[in-house]
Amino acid sequence: MKTKITNISKIYSWNTELDILDIKSNQEVLIENNKIVKITSKVIDDVDNTIDAEQSILTPGFIDSHTHPIFIGNRADEFKMRLEGKSYQDIKQEGGGILSSIRALRKASFEQLYLSSLENINPFIKYGTTTLEAKSGYGLSLNDEIKSLKVIRKINDDLDIDIIPTFLGAHAVPNEYSADKYVDIICNEMIPQIAEEKLAIFCDVFCEEGYFNIQQSRKILNTAKSYSLVPRLHSDEFKYFGASELASEVGAASSDHLMMINNNGIKALSKSNTVATLLPGTTFFLNKKTYANGRKLIDNQCQVALASDFNPGTCTIRSLSNIMLLAVQNCGLTLDEAFLGVTYNAAKSLLKSDEIGLIEEGYNADIVLWNTKSLNEIIYWYDSEYTKINKIIKNGNLI
Ligand SMILES: [Zn+2]
Repeated sequence: MKTKITNISKIYSWNTELDILDIKSNQEVLIENNKIVKITSKVIDDVDNTIDAEQSILTPGFIDSHTHPIFIGNRADEFKMRLEGKSYQDIKQEGGGILSSIRALRKASFEQLYLSSLENINPFIKYGTTTLEAKSGYGLSLNDEIKSLKVIRKINDDLDIDIIPTFLGAHAVPNEYSADKYVDIICNEMIPQIAEEKLAIFCDVFCEEGYFNIQQSRKILNTAKSYSLVPRLHSDEFKYFGASELASEVGAASSDHLMMINNNGIKALSKSNTVATLLPGTTFFLNKKTYANGRKLIDNQCQVALASDFNPGTCTIRSLSNIMLLAVQNCGLTLDEAFLGVTYNAAKSLLKSDEIGLIEEGYNADIVLWNTKSLNEIIYWYDSEYTKINKIIKNGNLI
């Protein structure tokens, strides 16, 4: 089946050779077998189906490379406690925070968790996200982590967008174990079974003081690699901890957060293929003043992506346009760099940059048609995005 998109105002993509924004005008796009096969200024004939862009601009479908949507209930009460002066760490110490999400998830049946997670994920589509990385990590037992990953698999089967699964058993240490004992369970029981059932592509660790130290994180990620799971890391969020050096050492696909990264960490990332992923929505939602210094990372040749970090405790933002706005205002990124961060660089962090993240011949036909005149307007209208989206094409089909 051949489909063409016609009546396009502009196509925005990234020129990977020159490393600059690529803008094409007066082109038609031919899609065949879910792929973009031709972009041309000539009129394309002999098609089965025509999509009228109605003078929309086109961008690649947005890619959210860091989310925690597999949970049940919410933590609005904790949000109130934080407004009253308690920190995320204080709340956790009192048995709230992530521990309350864990209690709720363990009690939930597969069906209940599926329905709740589906409700969490569905709205991402309205904001133009066509690929979503989703982490487990609110189960923290073999059965509950597997339940979470199977929910991700079912949602991936049921929704039009692609959901990429990450095992985050090392999100926190559950109350019933010491950290070392729990690390053994992750390495000896969880990772082997998850790998055998092919339930995850990536393995992530929350590498922070009070969670998993460098040695424990290294052990988990090296075990994951031996089972063909690709490492990624939560790094240098609350204080500098050396997690980005570890990310580079183990060949992680991504090192995420980075508010407290120092020069050594930046050096390690710049010399590696590890993408530096900024999550400014979390800084905003936690009402902290220190954002990750994206400008410094980019000026030091790091590859920078942006993601939402959607989760029940520290960020409920799903719109990547909103995240782009926060990044240009607070992390020192230009508009073009923010666009790169939610498209091609996000694809790199998911090891899919030869399939998604560009509007190029040979790439998946994941395309958003926006009712705007320029890329700037996507950020300008950051919170009314879905009213500005004309159509979304995922794997060649209108969704
Ligand atoms: Zn996270």
